[in-house]
This record gives sequence, C-alpha cells and structure tokens, in this order.
Amino acid sequence: MLRTAISRAKPELPSQATVYPAANRSERHTQDMFGIHFTGHPDNRKWTRHLAWSRRSYPLRKDFPVQGEPQAITPPDNGYPFIKAHGAGVYEIPVGPVHAGIIEPGHFRFQAVGELILTREERLGYVHKGIEIKRHIDKKFSGSIAIRAVDAGSCNGCELEIHALNNPYYDIERFGIHFVASPRHADVLLVTGPVSRHMQTALLRTYEATPDPKWVIAIGDCAVCGGEFGVSYASCGAVSNVIPVDMTITGCPPTPLALMKGLLGLIKA
Ligand code: SF4
Repeated sequence: MLRTAISRAKPELPSQATVYPAANRSERHTQDMFGIHFTGHPDNRKWTRHLAWSRRSYPLRKDFPVQGEPQAITPPDNGYPFIKAHGAGVYEIPVGPVHAGIIEPGHFRFQAVGELILTREERLGYVHKGIEIKRHIDKKFSGSIAIRAVDAGSCNGCELEIHALNNPYYDIERFGIHFVASPRHADVLLVTGPVSRHMQTALLRTYEATPDPKWVIAIGDCAVCGGEFGVSYASCGAVSNVIPVDMTITGCPPTPLALMKGLLGLIKA
C-alpha cells in the first residue's frame, strides 16, 4: 500500500497515468469521488460524475451525508467531450443507458471500423455503487447481512417495495445485503403487516429461531403501529406487541429508497 499526504486546502497529486496507464481510470475516479486533482493527467475528463452532482459534492469524503443529497432530476449529459469519430468507414455505436448492477448504471460509446473496435468510452456512476457502505458491513457484519422477510399479515403492498430492493436499479446486493430463506441464517428480520392472530405464533417462533445477535425492523405503518387494522379479534396490531423491535420504517408502503435508508442507518448505527 502506498500512502501520501495531501493538502486539505488544495488537494492534488502528480498523475502516475503517463507512467502506469492502469492508473488512468482510478485517478479519474478518485478525482470524481474525493475531489483530488491529478496534475499532468493525460485525460482528466469526468468519468463517474454526471450533471446532477453539485459541483462541490464528493461522495467518498467523510463530510458527505450518509443519506445522500436531495435527489435532483438528472439533466441530460449534454456537452460531455466524448472522443469524436472521424475517417472513412469509422462509425460510432452508442450503448445504453444500461442498468447493470455490477458496473453501475451508465452508457457506453464504441467507435469501430468493421469488426475492429478503435475506442470505447464509459460514463458510469448514475447510481453510486456504495462500496463504502460495503466496508461498514465487512467490518461490523463479517462481510454480509442476511435478511429474512416475514409477512405477518400484510396486504402485500410492503412486499412489492421490498422486492424492488433486489431489482437492478436499487440492487441492494451490491452492499452485501441479501435475503435468505431461513431465520436460522438471518441477522435481520424484516417484518411487515399488522401481526394477524394466525401469524402470532409463527412470528414468535421465527424470532426465537434467529440466532443472536439479531435485529428486527418493522416495515410499514401496519407493522409500526397496527395501521388501519389496529388491534382486534383478528389482529395483534404492531409487531412490537409480539416481539422486540429495534427499528421502524414508516410509510404505506415505504418506498425502496426509504427501506434502503433505514437499513443503511442500522448498519451505520
Ligand atoms: S403499511 Fe400499507 S402497504 Fe404495508 S401492509 Fe400495511 S396497508 Fe399494506
């Protein structure tokens, strides 16, 4: 590992990209994420920054808010200085936007002559991969968090939003957070719905089957307070009336973003 000191007031370092071409992208990425300028870089165009980012926000700096910045509408990335295609038989193939979970959403441009690819450029980072959150999970949870979802009487509205966490847009697996089939493999129980009397024993047994240490998150207004169902002959109401609850996420149903913020809050707590 190479360590160096940089000035807070003027964070910059000499670029190594002319000597080690492999440093090219990592220096551009570091510039986008930390605001460190690499002097003498042969191509210091933005790589992951897009136009929805405010000029002075750098997501990997410690002062960047955990909950992110207020979401702006991403304006078209007009004016980005892509390398131009010239010459007889040269043509350009734009690809995207793509929602690829592993490499982050973005788009690509290829320039080719016949089968021969001349250049390939990427614009990534339209949703940040969140590797720094993964580091918290590695440290506190030994690499991953396993969630068992328990529908204790929900209308399934909350489940639809929980399912969305696994789609390519929210892609919660990128943080090392995944859903498991058995409470015996789980760190966290996500419980939805007012707890119906029929599910009371099942929920209690699921809780007891989950190894310590464990966390219970009540998802949605029904799970938090009983919602419109309250307590009745058929409903125990809030999850906390049956098992201990560590965190609540309100909403009817809560959005996937609210669910992610809640989970990330648990990780950072
Ligand atoms: S909080 Fe709303 S969406 Fe979720 S289970 Fe209750 S009624 Fe359905």
